[in-house]
Amino acid sequence: MDVVHRIILSALLGIALTSCNNGSDNSNPTTPPIASKASCLGSEIKNHFIVKWKSGKTTYEEAESQEAVLQSLVLQNSAQNSDQVEFVEQDHMIHLDVRESTQASSASTSQPAIDWGQQMVQAPAVWTQGVNGNGVTVAVVDSGADYTHPQLRDQIALNAGEMGVDSQGRDKSNNGIDDDANGYIDDVRGYNFAEDDDPKHPQAANDPMDTNEHGTHVSGIIGAKHSAGPIHGIAEQAKILPLRFINASGAGAVSSAIKAIQYAVKAKAKVINASWGGSECSKALQDTIAGLEAQGIIFIAAAGNDNKNLDTTPSYPAAYAIPGQITVIATTELDAQAEFSNFSFTLTQIGAPGLGIVSTIPNGGTLSLDGTSMATPFVAGAAALLFGVKPTATVAQIKDALLKSVDQTSIADSAGGRLNVKKAVDLIKSM
Ligand code: CA
Repeated sequence: MDVVHRIILSALLGIALTSCNNGSDNSNPTTPPIASKASCLGSEIKNHFIVKWKSGKTTYEEAESQEAVLQSLVLQNSAQNSDQVEFVEQDHMIHLDVRESTQASSASTSQPAIDWGQQMVQAPAVWTQGVNGNGVTVAVVDSGADYTHPQLRDQIALNAGEMGVDSQGRDKSNNGIDDDANGYIDDVRGYNFAEDDDPKHPQAANDPMDTNEHGTHVSGIIGAKHSAGPIHGIAEQAKILPLRFINASGAGAVSSAIKAIQYAVKAKAKVINASWGGSECSKALQDTIAGLEAQGIIFIAAAGNDNKNLDTTPSYPAAYAIPGQITVIATTELDAQAEFSNFSFTLTQIGAPGLGIVSTIPNGGTLSLDGTSMATPFVAGAAALLFGVKPTATVAQIKDALLKSVDQTSIADSAGGRLNVKKAVDLIKSM
C-alpha cells in the first residue's frame, strides 16, 4: 500500500468505527451510555459489513475485516470513491423475543374477551364510522406473513407492476423478470430478505411466506379481515406489505432489515411496523429510520420484553429517539403496564395492549401471545386509521394525534398513557 492510500485508510478508519446513540443532546447529563462494541460481539455476522455512503446510499460488502472493506474500496476506485464513504459497520443479527401467552385463548369467565385490546382502545367506535385505513399500506418488517390465511389473504398489498401477462404472454408474477424495474424480480406480494438458516428449505427471494409465526400474528392485529374469522384487525382496509427478514428460527440480519425498510419506502408504505429489537450498535439502521419522516412514513417500534428501563439499558431500534418514530410499551387488560415490558419516560411514547393478544398464525389458526411485539401493531394499525382519515397528514401530526389522545394511566411512557383510537381519530380530524 502506498503512502497516499495508507493516509486515506487511516482517515477513513477514524470515522468508520461507529456506534449508535439515542439521538439525545450530548450535553444532557442524563444521556444513556452509548452501547459498547463488546455488547454486540455475540451477534456479529462474520465477514459481513454495511457501508454507508455520504450520498445516502447503503451497500453491503463481504470481507475479512472493516479495514479490508475500506482497503478494497480504495483499491477499486482510488481515493475519489472511498472518500465518499461515511462509515463501515459490522452487520449483526436481531433475534425475536417471543412469549407464549400466559393466558389461555379459549373463553372462560376468568379470561378477558378475545378482542379485549381492540375494545380497550375503542377501535370499534371508529369502525362503525367507516374509519378503516382505506388507501394506506402498512409494511410489516418481520418474519413474513401467511398470505393464504383466510383472514389475511385479501389484505395483502399487491404490486400491480408484477401482475398480469408480459409481452410474451407469460405470467408477470412468475416470469423471472423485474417487470416494474424496482430492483426486485417477481415481487408481487412483498419480498423475502431473510437469509434462511436451513439450507434444505431455502425460500424464494420473492416469497414472504411466514415460517415462524410472529409476522402473521402481527399482521392479523393490524389488518385481519373481520368477516373471515374471529380476529378483528385494527385497520382492515389497510393493505399489509409483508417484508420478511426474520427466518424460521426468529433471527434476521440488521442489513436485511435495512433492505426491507428501503423496500417499504419504494413501495409507498405510510406506516412501518417493527416488532423486534436487540440491535445494539447499528448507526446504519438508525440513519435509515431517521430518513423515513421526510418520506412521510411513520416508524412504530416495540420497546422490548426485558422489563428494563431503556434510559439505562438501551436496545435498538426501541431507544433511538428518532422524531418520526413511536416506541410502544405493552399494557394489560387491567390497563397496567405489562410486567415484562421495557419502558422509559422519554424513549418510549405510548402504551398499547400486549398481554393475551389473540391473532392469526400460519395454517389458518389463531394463537394468544404476549409481548411488546403485539402492542406495536395496535399503534401501527391506529396510525393507518389516521392516515386513512387524513392522507395529507404529516408524520408529526400523526404522532401528535396518537400521543395527545391517550387515556391517562400510570405507565412509564412520554405520553402518560395508553392508545385510544377513537380520541386519536377525533383529534386528527381537527388538525
Ligand atoms: Ca419488481
